[in-house]
Amino acid sequence: MTAATPPAAAPRAPLKPLDNALEELLAFATPLAKREVVSTFDADGRVLAQDVVSALQVPPQDNSSMDGYALRCADVAAADSLVVSQRIPAGSHGQPLLPGTAARIFTGAPVPAGAEAIVMQEDCEVLPAGDDGTTRIVVKQPPQPGQWIRRAGEDVTQGAVVLSQGSRLTPAALGLAASIGLAQLQVVARPRVALFSTGDELVMPGDVPPEQMPPGAIYNSNRFFLRALLLRLGCEVTDMGIVPDRLEATVAALRDASQHHDLILTSGGVSVGEEDHIKPAVQSLGMLNLWQIAMKPGKPFAYGKVGNAHFIGLPGNPVSSFVTFMLLVRPFLLKLQGVSDVAHKSIALSADFTWARPDKRREFLRVRRNAAGNVELFANQSSGVLTSAVWGDGVVDNPSGQAIAPGDLVRYIPFTELQS
Ligand code: AMP
Ligand code: MG
Repeated sequence: MTAATPPAAAPRAPLKPLDNALEELLAFATPLAKREVVSTFDADGRVLAQDVVSALQVPPQDNSSMDGYALRCADVAAADSLVVSQRIPAGSHGQPLLPGTAARIFTGAPVPAGAEAIVMQEDCEVLPAGDDGTTRIVVKQPPQPGQWIRRAGEDVTQGAVVLSQGSRLTPAALGLAASIGLAQLQVVARPRVALFSTGDELVMPGDVPPEQMPPGAIYNSNRFFLRALLLRLGCEVTDMGIVPDRLEATVAALRDASQHHDLILTSGGVSVGEEDHIKPAVQSLGMLNLWQIAMKPGKPFAYGKVGNAHFIGLPGNPVSSFVTFMLLVRPFLLKLQGVSDVAHKSIALSADFTWARPDKRREFLRVRRNAAGNVELFANQSSGVLTSAVWGDGVVDNPSGQAIAPGDLVRYIPFTELQS
């Protein structure tokens, strides 16, 4: 590490509101043009590159939602018992229902033509077989027309757009695609992301055991959660490790990464006045915007271009890195994949804590829900305390200067909204 020279007395730029930073950042995120066809089995989390239109209706025909008997309602009122004239298991197709009879039917089997309702077997009594071998039933509950029948097309109508271009596929969406016969889906290519860390103090876990860590050294934690967050967002990650704190090495790493990646993501070295090589290296190869965002944690943030690759530089403090990834890089990567709606949703919840000294910047406080459904605050909100992000299950998005008293409604964003 070289000693930092005092920064020149440059006038301080005003902090940029987070919403403006996000808007500017997203304007750079032109969706990737590359698409690929993947097995529906492997498409969880991927983004559809085209609308999915159904060639058939689901269910294909009226079918029973119970094990029981298919019949006409008037026949039940007209006779004490009904002959069971046919048997229709799932996977078979019955005959039109003979007048004055019932059809034994099972869940999922097509309702025979002429039948108006299904009576579940629990509501019928089966009489002992007669001499002629026929089975008769007594219906104990008068049926309502249409009961226990799932109507043809009630899930999907033929020609309907069941999944839209720009939507992210969920497990349920894969099931829906399969239900209309699709074994493959056209999705946007995975963003290729090169990840590296800066900072000569960093040591990789596994390289040096804890008891032999030199003074001033810390383990590289950002690399682990950033990689995991990228993978959850469907990215292909090239882990370039820790790049030495030298200009030529940084330039070489950036140039190399820009060849085959859509995004180069780094952490550390974007603070104001820091003597590091990321800034001059990116500037020498392309362009760089260095922003001071009015958010806490996570003030410094850089966006640039190196050749055709996007460059994003996150702050080094672990919680700052973590929060800026979730609030800025996540929507950026989703838009790159063509996702139409990249905004996260927040929930209004009641605070079970006091926050007496709010910051001038918009804050993202690490909190978690308790059994009462309210949110509790992690005691140490320092941007270096990664424990807060493990203890917490989300953040409170607290407006600039807003004190919080117990019982106040706060905007809670669960990590589940921000980490996938
Ligand atoms: P910087 O943004 O480079 O000024 O770093 C701010 C703080 O974050 C310093 O205390 C760094 O040691 C720490 N830091 C930077 N990168 C990492 C990393 N990859 N893992 C853990 N801590 C880091
Ligand atoms: Mg640093």
